[in-house]
Amino acid sequence: MALIVHKYGGTSMGSTERIRNVAKRVAKWARAGHQMVVVPSAMSGETNRLLGLAKELSPEKSTPELLRELDMIASTGEQVSVGLLAIALQAEGMASVSYAGWQVPIKTDTGYTKARIASIDDARVRADLAEGKVVIITGFQGIDPEGNITTLGRGGSDTSAVAVAAAMKADECLIYTDVDGVYTTDPRIVPEARRLKTISFEEMLEMASLGSKVLQIRSVEFAGKYRVPLRVLSSFTPWDIDIDEEARSGTLITFEEDVNMEQALVSGIAFSRDEAKVSLHGVPDRPGIAYQILGPVADANIDIDVIIQNVAHDGKTDFSFTVNRGDYGRTLDLLKTQVQGEVGAAEVVGDPKICKVSIIGIGMRSHVGIASKMFRTLSEEGINIQMISTSEIKTSVVIDEKYMELAVRALHKAFDLEQAGS
Ligand code: ASP
Ligand code: MG
Repeated sequence: MALIVHKYGGTSMGSTERIRNVAKRVAKWARAGHQMVVVPSAMSGETNRLLGLAKELSPEKSTPELLRELDMIASTGEQVSVGLLAIALQAEGMASVSYAGWQVPIKTDTGYTKARIASIDDARVRADLAEGKVVIITGFQGIDPEGNITTLGRGGSDTSAVAVAAAMKADECLIYTDVDGVYTTDPRIVPEARRLKTISFEEMLEMASLGSKVLQIRSVEFAGKYRVPLRVLSSFTPWDIDIDEEARSGTLITFEEDVNMEQALVSGIAFSRDEAKVSLHGVPDRPGIAYQILGPVADANIDIDVIIQNVAHDGKTDFSFTVNRGDYGRTLDLLKTQVQGEVGAAEVVGDPKICKVSIIGIGMRSHVGIASKMFRTLSEEGINIQMISTSEIKTSVVIDEKYMELAVRALHKAFDLEQAGS
């Protein structure tokens, strides 16, 4: 008997018909002798609908009072889901009980709309499991030290599920979603993309932070920190498929020591359109410049990604960095009004039509020449690289957005991702 956590995304919970299917699948696992905890998302579209209603009443964004109410509203989507799923399980003859985050409780900090989980008390859940009940816990939400409802950021149910699995030392956390696993790249762009049977946790973290939307990044961090065995698999297989086959399907996120030595050098290609570049030209080259430029940006809570500072000529240099596209206008304004005069830059320019393409693989640690192969591939396609950033297991380039698909296809081919065994 194992303790298993299942997480179902919004599409899997999208209608009463689908919820019935989820219930049948969960009941199958419970009847196979497992203790089951299930963490569902809101029905698809529901969180957007709820937040849309709030927006109709106040387009204003970020007062703490407003953010508190947004969490109050958005958290109800998941509350409906858990109740419906509990009813569906009971209709299948399976004892079950649902809990909202505060009832467990799942304790978080006060960061409304992007709260972090602080602790989970599993006593109540364990007692129900011991009585043979399936326990269903809302994804996406918790309660802060003052008793306010909080949410964990969009896509946060993944994190709820992994955190519950970590707190309960579950044997495995299965994330059921509308794709059947993690692919070498997005199959919508490269139809030859291949599903990975395994991917290391570090690679998954890079994939998630570099634009792959399969898992919320924080859930991957959690899985790594608490070593939660995590699997991404499809909820669209028939609910009654053989349970052993189901348990081996999808993509397993592994820890590095388990990765076999035959592992491909590059495991995947990630990309993100959600980027914009800003540059300050003619900046005097003296100590403190990076801090003077980036300090105010950080103070404005704008995330900075790739940074380059050019070699100085005649005491002047150019300084560029990328931000989320949504922060582009705000960043340009801030640089023009607060930074340019201060540092004495000649001009501030920007380009919101860029993208970032990355190759990822733990094999890069032990092999040289992988980045140069990436650069050669892009040059053969005539694609100009504007910025480069590297870590031990990834190389990212910033290029013109219009070449994104071409770059991803060419790299996918150059690194043999269609055929390599995983
Ligand atoms: N319902 C929330 C959202 O749409 C959380 C989730 O689905 O993971 O972002
Ligand atoms: Mg999701």
